[in-house]
Amino acid sequence: MSIENRELLRKGLIDFKIDVDDNMLDRFEKYREVLVEYNKYMNLTGITEQRDVYIKHFLDSVAIFKNGYIMDDISIIDVGTGAGFPGIPYKICNPNIKLTLLDSLKKRINFLKEVGSSIGFEDIEYIHGRAEDFGQNLNYREKHDIATARAVASLPVLLELCVPYIKVGGFFICLKGPNVENEIEESKNAMKILGVKLVEKIDVQLPDEELKHNILVFKKLEKTTKKYPRKAGKPSKNPL
Ligand code: SAM
Repeated sequence: MSIENRELLRKGLIDFKIDVDDNMLDRFEKYREVLVEYNKYMNLTGITEQRDVYIKHFLDSVAIFKNGYIMDDISIIDVGTGAGFPGIPYKICNPNIKLTLLDSLKKRINFLKEVGSSIGFEDIEYIHGRAEDFGQNLNYREKHDIATARAVASLPVLLELCVPYIKVGGFFICLKGPNVENEIEESKNAMKILGVKLVEKIDVQLPDEELKHNILVFKKLEKTTKKYPRKAGKPSKNPL
């Protein structure tokens, strides 16, 4: 890894109040290497340059650490994790979380298992399936302190996919791009039906990036009624 990029990553992590050590930086680089290797024969990401991966995938994923939600021993499910964002960067920055990665594409789950073992994590849970189906499974439903998602669906759809996984009192951490006001407005009905409240809208400034990203944090106030999530495909076809 170039020393300049390693230092950029170190500084970015420190700015997000993460306790950085060399092992953490080595794990991030190993993750990038496996990502670039697998990306040659499967579609994982358009971003492969070291500096870009560090900023647009790794630092973007872990900006939430500065707000104190990602604590030791909590359980987190990353819904529609794809190539592992933001879940794997959370785990690299705090190996004491209990992490579940869920995605509907089997190939991506196989890739994630390879990443997990390459960077020395044997305790990640991998689920191949639709968020709608596992959200109705009692082993997963209302069993997590935090659900998180990045770049999976519009906000009203994501709320229906993610909130059922969270315990009452837990949080949904949603990573979004620059313009979120309209999506928040369009999600009022979903928030009401699913019993969540928007508690924080956090501006994220990443190195080299002109536009600010947003992290939305929702708190779950009530149990989710049995009806949600609806059957696979329904939330996106007919959003709340
Ligand atoms: N979160 C990653 C990121 O930020 O790079 C991946 C984003 S990718 C654009 C969206 C991922 O969500 C894909 O891997 C897709 O298979 C998964 N996905 C979409 N809808 C899903 C659903 N209903 N259940 C499970 N996974 C889903």
